[in-house]
Amino acid sequence: MKGYIEIDQELCKGCELCISFCPKQSISLADRLNHSGYVPASFNDNGECTGCAICALVCPEVAIEVYRG
Ligand code: SF4
Ligand code: SF4
Repeated sequence: MKGYIEIDQELCKGCELCISFCPKQSISLADRLNHSGYVPASFNDNGECTGCAICALVCPEVAIEVYRG
């Protein structure tokens, strides 16, 4: 199954939990700061995301929306 995610760059605090837990290496850090001064996570659309939603479950800021299909 294919999926993709959207990360709210302004809610994200760059904790990297989603990066650690994603089984498909589909998330990395962005190359810029958000308005709060954090380096936010960014979806790395490598075609591997399954929409498993692990990233959204572990995100303490509820910054990730997951879409499937
Ligand atoms: S939904 Fe799953 S595969 Fe896709 S980015 Fe999140 S943890 Fe990775
Ligand atoms: S788990 Fe949430 S707050 Fe942490 S880096 Fe990922 S999107 Fe940002």
